[in-house]
Amino acid sequence: MMITKTKCAGRKFKFPYECPCDHYGTLPHDGRMWCAKHHPPTINAKREEKHRKWLLGYDAKVAQRERDDADTRERDRKAACFDEMLSALKAALPFLPSHTRAVDQVVIAIARAEEVK
Ligand SMILES: [Zn+2]
Repeated sequence: MMITKTKCAGRKFKFPYECPCDHYGTLPHDGRMWCAKHHPPTINAKREEKHRKWLLGYDAKVAQRERDDADTRERDRKAACFDEMLSALKAALPFLPSHTRAVDQVVIAIARAEEVK
């Protein structure tokens, strides 16, 4: 019995033209034989796997961006209170009992806040 080998039904690009694939067809699909490189189900499976991996990376990036945005919003929300809290502390300072540890800490906190400002 003689085994006949069929050429791959795929096309390759050889600049500047497209021409038939040089390999023998080993995988059937749609009534034609294909090499492993041009077999349409294999190509689609590889493409879907690549897309799935890309999608995982994309979802991770989107999730990270949302976490960063949430952190930024939280920091902005706290920063918006900064000036108001500082002026309230300064206004309250004369009415606090002097030379207590708590008041000394308030004085230090005000000094540090004004350095940061
Ligand atoms: Zn081929």
